[in-house]
Amino acid sequence: MLQQIREQLQPTNTQLIAVSKTKPPAAILQLYEQGQRDFGENKVQELVPKYEALPKDIHWHFIGHLQTNKVKQIAPFIHLIHSVDSLDILKEINKQAKKHNRIIHCLLQFKIAQEYTKYGFDLESAEAMLQSADYQSFKNVNITGVMGMATFTEDENQVRQEFKRLKEIFNIIRAKYFSNSITFKEISMGMSDDYPIAVEEGSTMVRIGTLLFGARNY
Ligand SMILES: *Cc1c(COP(=O)(O)O)cnc(C)c1O
Repeated sequence: MLQQIREQLQPTNTQLIAVSKTKPPAAILQLYEQGQRDFGENKVQELVPKYEALPKDIHWHFIGHLQTNKVKQIAPFIHLIHSVDSLDILKEINKQAKKHNRIIHCLLQFKIAQEYTKYGFDLESAEAMLQSADYQSFKNVNITGVMGMATFTEDENQVRQEFKRLKEIFNIIRAKYFSNSITFKEISMGMSDDYPIAVEEGSTMVRIGTLLFGARNY
């Protein structure tokens, strides 16, 4: 399956994040041995032991809701945080990154789904943050793009519209706030059920769990 997905992503050069949440280190190593280096987790308490147990050249992506009191545990090693959803969390990431003398790369998570979702910015709240003096003082975070999740539905057209909206948000924000940045370029969208549509709509990173690891038992 890994090879098949890689081949599908190759023409657009879309990056594959293997979402390993709930899966044991042995399952991660299986993909590692096939060359996969980017893995995604959504819980700090699960990520930290995996980071400690597994090879240090893995790039760990944080994709779940992040609580401020847990940032310090991942700040020494996290590669990219996809799920920045408030000024408060970005402030804490900046603070912890500074302690480790790092610049942590982050994506802004947007609410694009019809269905009720708790976390994520809308365009207005993201702009308010980007315009704030607080945000502009942060030296140890670098926002490299946006992330979103489409509605879980059979309606492909709806999913496509939601991905189009995320691309539109990306374009607006890039033009207004990151026109001088060469690193603001990521659109993290697409999961096992909808990644082909996401890739057609301009995804630069897909986050795939079930297709690679099988169904999760919670
Ligand atoms: C679990 C998860 C995924 C992967 O979902 P699959 O349907 O298993 O591919 C992607 N993104 C986020 C934010 C997730 O929590």
